[in-house]
This record gives sequence, C-alpha cells and structure tokens, in this order.
Amino acid sequence: MKKVERYWNPVLETLPREKLQQLQLKKFKNILKWAYENSPFYQRLYKEAGLEPGDIKTLDDIGKVPKTEKSMLREAQGREPYPYGSILSVPLEQVTEYRQTSGTTGQPVYHPETWQDWEWSAESWAYALYAHGYRDYDRVFLPFGYSINIAFWAGHYAAEKIGCEVVPGGVLNTEARLLKMQELRTTALMATPTYILGMADTARKKLGIDPARDLYIRKITAAGEPGACIPATKKRMEEMWGAKVYDQVGATEIGHWGFECQAQAGLHVLEAFHLVEIEDIESGQAITEPGRRGKLVITTFDRFAHPCIRFDSKDISEWSPDQCQCERTFRLLKGGVVGRADDITKVKGVLLAPSSIEEVVRGIPELGDEYEVIVTKKGDIDVITLKVEPVPGQENNAEAIKSKLTDQLRVKTGLGYNLEFYQYGSLPRYDIKAKRFKDLRTKE
Ligand SMILES: [Zn+2]
Repeated sequence: MKKVERYWNPVLETLPREKLQQLQLKKFKNILKWAYENSPFYQRLYKEAGLEPGDIKTLDDIGKVPKTEKSMLREAQGREPYPYGSILSVPLEQVTEYRQTSGTTGQPVYHPETWQDWEWSAESWAYALYAHGYRDYDRVFLPFGYSINIAFWAGHYAAEKIGCEVVPGGVLNTEARLLKMQELRTTALMATPTYILGMADTARKKLGIDPARDLYIRKITAAGEPGACIPATKKRMEEMWGAKVYDQVGATEIGHWGFECQAQAGLHVLEAFHLVEIEDIESGQAITEPGRRGKLVITTFDRFAHPCIRFDSKDISEWSPDQCQCERTFRLLKGGVVGRADDITKVKGVLLAPSSIEEVVRGIPELGDEYEVIVTKKGDIDVITLKVEPVPGQENNAEAIKSKLTDQLRVKTGLGYNLEFYQYGSLPRYDIKAKRFKDLRTKE
C-alpha cells in the first residue's frame, strides 16, 4: 500500500520522534498559556503552585505542572458561567455543543464544545477509523443512543469526514438494528465490547442470524471499555462476527487519544494531539521505559473551550518496547489500557486487575461471555466470588470447567476463588458499559 493510502495524515503519523517531541512541547506551552490566560480555574491552580506558563521550557519541565482530576472538574462546574463554571475558557456564546460524561463514577462532568473543538474531535477519531481500514466505500452502522453522552458521536462525524456512508442506528432496539445491518449490508460497526458480544448473542438466539455468515461486517471499532485489548475477548468478538476488531480509547474530558492499527501490536498514542505520561501508581514517579505498569496522565493539546491539562485518567498501561510495523512513529502502549486505577485493588495482599479475570473466563470456550466478580470480607479474610455461566450443553460439565478455571485463575492472578455456576442467561446483561466488578469490603 502506498504511504498516502495507509495513513489519515501521512506527515504527522510518520514524523521523526525528535520533531514529534518538538511539536508536543510547542503545543503543550500553547495550551498551558491559553488556560492560564482564559480560565480562572487553571489560573488559580497554577498561581497556588507558583507556576507561570513561561517556566516550562523543556518536556522534562512538564512534570512541575499540577495535575487535574475528575473531582476538581466536578467541583468547578455548576457555577458561573453556568453550567460549566471556571474552567470554561471561551465566551459562552462560542459554545455550540453540550456533552457530558456517562456518570458511571458519580455526578456527570459537563463538557462544552465550540464548533472548532468539535471539528478537532472528529479529526482525532478519523486517525483511528482510517487506521482500522475505514474508507469511502464503507457503509458504517452506529448502534448507540445518540443522547447527551459523548459515546460514539465523534465517530459518526469522523466516518462522514473520511467519506463513509453512515447509518445512525439510534432509537432502534438490538433486533431492529441487526435486521437493518443485514438489509443495508453495512460493512463496519462501532460499539462497546459488551454490546458487540451482546448483539452477536441476540442475532443467534433471537433472529437465527449468524453474524459471521449472514452479515457483511468486516471491521469493528470497539471503544468505551478495555475488551478489545484483552486477547480472549477480542478473539471471541472476531470469531462471532467474522470481522477484525480494533481498539480505540478516549474519555469525554480528554477526547480520543489512542488507537490500534492493522498490525494490532498495541495501542498507538495519538501523539500529535496529546501528551501521554505514565507514572508509578504509588510514588507518582514518571515511567518512561517499557515494561512497567503505571497510571496515564494525559494532556489534550488543541481543544480550547474546556482545556484538559495533565489529567489523571486513572487508566493503567505500560510502554511497549516495540516499534510498530505500520511505521507510524506514535508510541505504542503494550496491551492497551489494562484497567482502571479505581478497579485495581489489593485482595489478600495481591494486586488484582479485573481484566486478568476476564482474560481467563473468556478464554474458556465452555463459558458464556457474562461473569461477575464480587469481593467481600469474612472476618479478616478477603473472599473473591466469581459467578460464571456455562454455555448451553455444558451444564453437566461443571466439575471439569471448575478445575480448569481454578488452575488458570491461580496462574494468571495468583489468587483462589469461590466459584459459582449459574444457568445460561441468568447473570445481568448490559447494553453499553458493564459493571462486572464489585468490591463490597468497607473501606477504612
Ligand atoms: Zn501500528
């Protein structure tokens, strides 16, 4: 494939690292100055830390800039200029879109977009979709609610920008969406991993449709949850749909910041638009070398209404030692986002990431997609209960599945589990984002 056909932006995606870093420094200084001059929230934050925008001269200096987090954004909102409060960095008249976070972790964060910022969001998604192979001949189906949450809105506009034909599957239910996909022979799809699996299940059970055989989907963009970077979950989705599944990550506050390319060797950071730093979860020290997991701290460069500077994303990942064969110079994160700092918790003194449980459950073909993990305390002892559902036909095979599960969980997570088996279809199903991990221990 010619270089111009391989990348959405051949210049930026293959920029030599040194030039890319110069560009990042320039953009960082620019957004820092913008926020300082236009947002009372940021100005107060930096003044209290004794920081002036001019103090940042090198990439290493960036570590001196105070971090931000969701609770700070929440606290600043609900005041004048209502409802965005003191983070808003443009006159209210320039705001053209309202969005909000999904509120899964509390009160939603309001998110204003100007027309220019919104165009930036679509542009950033276009890098991902183009890398996933979306082209002007694709007919793309979007099965999401088109509501006040940001979800796949920018994906819609990015697909249009590439020249695809976009089918908005908004208020239709799952069955109607599937039938429409079949009728229109749509070739690409964007959804959360939970919904990608759920749709395939509905297609088979309720409509007698085998997505891999009877539908025309050849590529799927998975976002909103870690699934597409968990190998066993990715494999399930790809087999069910007969399609390639690519990961894409972002957050309302930060925008879309990472994507998988067709080499599927990890997650490329969209470094022309973002600075991603990794820091040690406990010490906060910067991690620049591959192989050590930490928390991602992310700066968004070119979005001006609601600046997002050194935002503690709580996402956990690590740098990859590899260069990608796609020849993009954007750095790779190994294994994508493996979990959330909020969900990674010490159980029986061992650090447990829920994604490693998912990897085991979905790697066992006798088990269905759904599972639930509940951590409780019995006296002084932590107890982890894992609820699973054998697929139809495997009900009498519980003992064999149990020993397989126990062995693999021990290897993968170093912990013992209380296993509970449920009839297929009885664990909760989720339409968008799943909540499968529950820590019911009282926090001291
Ligand atoms: Zn690549």
